[in-house]
Amino acid sequence: MEPDFSLDQHIFWDRFLEVVKERVNNQSFNTWFKPLGIVDLSEDSLVISVPKSYYQSWLEEHYLSLLNSASQQLLDRSVSITFIVTDTGDAVDKSPVKKVPSYPAIPQKDVEQQYFFEQQVINPRFTFDSFVIGNSNQFAHAASKAVAESPGTTAFNPLVIYGGVGLGKTHILQAIANHCLHCNNGDRNRVIVVSSEKFTMDFIMSIQNNLTHQYSNYYRTSDVLLVDDIQFFNNKERTQEEFFHIFNALHQSGKQIVLTMDRPPSQLKGLADRLINRFQWGLVTDIQPPDFETRVAILKKKADVDGVFIENAIFDYIAENITSNIRELEGSLIRLLAYSSLRGQDICLDMAKRVLGEMFMKKTKPITIESIQKIVSDYFSITNNLLMGNSRRKEVAVARHIAIYLSKKLTDSSLKTIGLHFGGRDHSTVIHSINNVEKKYMKDATLSKHIMNLTDKARNS
Ligand code: ADP
Ligand code: MG
Repeated sequence: MEPDFSLDQHIFWDRFLEVVKERVNNQSFNTWFKPLGIVDLSEDSLVISVPKSYYQSWLEEHYLSLLNSASQQLLDRSVSITFIVTDTGDAVDKSPVKKVPSYPAIPQKDVEQQYFFEQQVINPRFTFDSFVIGNSNQFAHAASKAVAESPGTTAFNPLVIYGGVGLGKTHILQAIANHCLHCNNGDRNRVIVVSSEKFTMDFIMSIQNNLTHQYSNYYRTSDVLLVDDIQFFNNKERTQEEFFHIFNALHQSGKQIVLTMDRPPSQLKGLADRLINRFQWGLVTDIQPPDFETRVAILKKKADVDGVFIENAIFDYIAENITSNIRELEGSLIRLLAYSSLRGQDICLDMAKRVLGEMFMKKTKPITIESIQKIVSDYFSITNNLLMGNSRRKEVAVARHIAIYLSKKLTDSSLKTIGLHFGGRDHSTVIHSINNVEKKYMKDATLSKHIMNLTDKARNS
């Protein structure tokens, strides 16, 4: 599609919704996108109105990459997306994020031109105040708080926090950032928060645009560097090397480094030993799944923030059924809130069972090769048969390589099983596909975008 900069806002919005509609199922579209509106579209930002604050949380959590790619597709430029809660008159909705775009613009230094890699995302909702402390996370919390209060001066450098999906790693990392930016008595720390995926993508883009010097300089001049999900550096050798030098420069000059990862450093795969070794220089601490009481406390806090009253039996019901992922815990509550507000009915235990019961039963369903095949073929608009067959048409072959790669990455299946699911391919053909993707992943920004989108879809389907 031709980029059209003079696109009228409302025409843009209609097209935008069409693009979104193609990529999500009907029910999600009606629940999460239909009620949205456009407030403003400018050169570099898109402001979307949401009826309730929990729409914002849900969209940020589940659909941010979709919103970004849809706007990128229509505008041919990237815009920052912010939300405004319109239903401010509603006494029930006491969310503190109301009316403020959730991602404040980064304070821009007067003279310096702003590069793509400087566009960081700090979510003001992720603070120490909104973080519930329990046995499972109290040590990580205490260490993070200490680091946030006196960055670079504790023995916790780097501070490494590891734990499973949805246990609060990103929340606590962003809480450190928010604290350093707003609470340290006016100390002007230069704080950078970045996911390892963005770090990688930006690095690729900086190579393509001859900006590696600026890129490296950007990170080396930070006082506090927070990198999320380090495990995604696996097998990305040049990125690791770049990070290694940045790490050394910062550490030597006493700057604070905080890293999160999904397992202890010693168990990371595909990372250089010298990096793993450095990760253990400071403090390594974990976050465990929360116990029942902590789960209930988290739900209560969330309901409080949203200003809704919910009876205890409902908190118990949710906390009993979701035991190991706080994101899903919150997701259930949000789903319930959405249902009750769309129907205009008060929340009761019966409703909770009706709305969530089925989900709790399906919840244990892991990602399967079949589900990945379906998602990939839908995404590239090809049939399942083509995907599994022998066609060598370029777009089919690429989709197939990606599907095989994701089957390896997101399921526990053996190469042999994967081969069987793809029309009986042998083990070496499967390896070839995986290598093919891994080799290009670093160099090809479009491919990395596809893979991130598809991973999101597989995880959230
Ligand atoms: P991770 O990065 O470990 O996958 P996140 O930090 O994204 O997990 O957490 C998932 C969701 O759970 C976020 O919305 C976060 O605010 C919430 N959450 C996690 N831990 C806590 C906690 N201790 N108190 C309150 N909310 C939490
Ligand atoms: Mg995270």
